[in-house]
Amino acid sequence: MSDKRFQHVQNVAKSALRLAERWGYPEPRKAELAGLLHDYAKETTDETFIQLIDKYQLDPDLLNWNNNVWHGLVGIYKIQEDLGLTDPEITRAIEIHTVGSAAMSLLDKILYVADYVEDGRTFEGVDVARQLAYEQDLDAAVAYETVHTVAFLASKHVRIYPQTILTYNAYVEQLK
Ligand code: GDP
Ligand code: FE
Ligand code: FE
Ligand code: FE
Repeated sequence: MSDKRFQHVQNVAKSALRLAERWGYPEPRKAELAGLLHDYAKETTDETFIQLIDKYQLDPDLLNWNNNVWHGLVGIYKIQEDLGLTDPEITRAIEIHTVGSAAMSLLDKILYVADYVEDGRTFEGVDVARQLAYEQDLDAAVAYETVHTVAFLASKHVRIYPQTILTYNAYVEQLK
């Protein structure tokens, strides 16, 4: 992967470890490993993703999306094939790290949020996101991230993956 992405995944691993310790995830080294692996499939070609959707008979609607959605939901099959990763908690967290889900495990939330607040992120509001994530309320951090991602995608006039909206509906009221 590029130097920039390698820096990002190392930052996410560090952030995930910190969140695991803060929120009492019992296996912090798994959080760290999820951080290191989460964007493994980001540079996989579209052709390969399309083949994987076919091979594993995944939801055919996935064919209407792109790398942003595929690198987690489909990328996890590439990670399992290439690396032999089998831990179901880690694979699930990586699978949904971009779109979330309506019922996220502690590790799912840690990875989803770590990706957003890692030390290299500089967007407006990252200070609020970090305060929620590292200090106040991990569910509120999930909500904050999802609200801002949905608003960002809408402002760009791009389609929003339905599972992202389910995440939004499940967590938005955690933001007080
Ligand atoms: P990254 O892999 O570290 O860059 O971060 P993510 O995996 O969280 O997100 C990758 C890209 O997907 C970002 O540009 C997001 O804005 C975008 N994204 C997140 N959710 C959705 C969605 O529901 N639909 C679409 N089209 N893009 C999304
Ligand atoms: Fe990603
Ligand atoms: Fe993310
Ligand atoms: Fe990432």
